[in-house]
Amino acid sequence: MHQYVDFSSKPMVAMNASDDKPTVADDVQAAREAWRKCLDIIRDNVNPQSFKTWFEPIVPLRLSGGELVIQVPSQFFYEWLEENYYSLLKRTILDVIGRQAKLTYSVVVQQSPIEPVTIKLPQQPPVPASSPEVRPIAVSRAAYELYKANVQRFESYLNPRHSFENFIQGDCNAFALAAARSVAETPGKNAYNPLVIYGGVGLGKTHLVQAIGNYVRLKRKAEFVLYVSSEKFAIDFVTAIQNNRISEFSAFYRNIDLLIIDDIQFFAGKGKTQEEIFHIFNTLHQANKQIVLSCDRPIKELRDMEERLLSRFQWGLVTDLQPPDFETRLAILRRKLEDNGATLPDDVVTFIATNVTSNVRELEGCLIKLLATASLQGKEIDLALAKSVLKDIIRDRTVNITLEMIEKATCEYYHISPNDIKGKSRKQEIALARQVAMYLGKQLTNSSFKTIGLHFGGRDHSTVIHAVTTVEKEQETSPELRRDIAELKKRLEIMAL
Ligand code: ADP
Ligand code: MG
Repeated sequence: MHQYVDFSSKPMVAMNASDDKPTVADDVQAAREAWRKCLDIIRDNVNPQSFKTWFEPIVPLRLSGGELVIQVPSQFFYEWLEENYYSLLKRTILDVIGRQAKLTYSVVVQQSPIEPVTIKLPQQPPVPASSPEVRPIAVSRAAYELYKANVQRFESYLNPRHSFENFIQGDCNAFALAAARSVAETPGKNAYNPLVIYGGVGLGKTHLVQAIGNYVRLKRKAEFVLYVSSEKFAIDFVTAIQNNRISEFSAFYRNIDLLIIDDIQFFAGKGKTQEEIFHIFNTLHQANKQIVLSCDRPIKELRDMEERLLSRFQWGLVTDLQPPDFETRLAILRRKLEDNGATLPDDVVTFIATNVTSNVRELEGCLIKLLATASLQGKEIDLALAKSVLKDIIRDRTVNITLEMIEKATCEYYHISPNDIKGKSRKQEIALARQVAMYLGKQLTNSSFKTIGLHFGGRDHSTVIHAVTTVEKEQETSPELRRDIAELKKRLEIMAL
């Protein structure tokens, strides 16, 4: 991706007027030299921290015909330069290259081991580091050493089970996962600082933020990676105040390489704690240390939080986790089974994936309960056992559903008459409705194939089996059918209330 910024109002003129065409190597060499001169000027005009953050990472690629191409690490980086250093860059480039100067940015597209996804950029660029609100606080090494000696051993509070490898990707989480991976690859040196992951309970927030921590600690060998829940942070902070050890507390947090705070919604209403977080945040951010946060709702919906803190939480990237879709639920169940060295019949796995829809924790809970009960009772797990074991967890809204209700709902949904569904017509829409009704009969009631066949026009049990397998198969490829069935189930649950 290239972005052009043309500093000259005149048409470009070639720099090199001789007939010897410059080679690619010449262009590269020329770019390096010109950029080195630019850096000398820039260095004198910005503070050292900004220089390090925003100019050192730039790689000069080539200079030809007055056009200097520089490579920047991300789109965000480019926007930031343009927003904050446009005039400085312009002056410098014109000085060094001359009036025909033109600056072109080449934006590195982030490499990710999984399907690339576009990462939305924060709408508001970060407040410049020189903002008067930001007060850098000198960390006393002595205070830190003291604190560290007292905690004896640095504890990350990371659960090794929470790794990227164990995190199943689906449409519901692909974006957040890609962002998490890219932060883990380049902690503190990316535009996603802080990275905020939000979503409802049991959707994998803790797993994902810890996966970043584990990766950075093990693969990137960062020394101080800390995972802390916001409650623990708040409690430790209050304890530090009571024990008069606040400077050790502050020093400790300001020396962390990667700080992960889980469930920041609990900071609501805790003014003093928020203030402390604010200063820690500023110190770490300025030192290019990565901050990762999780929250159970969008940042904008947080109440009783200081405005300046909320704005900082949105400096980087805010991304969400959605409830897992059916395919992801199936994939998660299969993976957990594999990890436990267990197998389950397909219809049982489908039963769980169909009925536990809200979150991954509940999905896991069902599986564990089922495996535990089966091994205690020494029974083979089949659908009947699954239904009975899980009836407390899966609030079985289907217990009251009858074949009559299914018949009524299906006829209404497909606009056909009860006579049709029970009759002999092979018209396509009637045959489909009939098969769907039989399938729902098997799924939602305890009726046998035989009973279902009898109900729907005195048909043979093998006809019902055929209908059920057909609908199961077709659902795999037909989103419309899946939608029909989901809608019918919803209506039936309401009818059965
Ligand atoms: P949250 O913090 O959002 O409440 P957790 O991270 O504690 O949720 O996730 C609940 C459980 O579900 C954990 O055991 C976690 O490992 C598991 N989990 C969540 N999402 C996934 C996923 N995509 N793949 C595998 N396991 C997952
Ligand atoms: Mg959590």
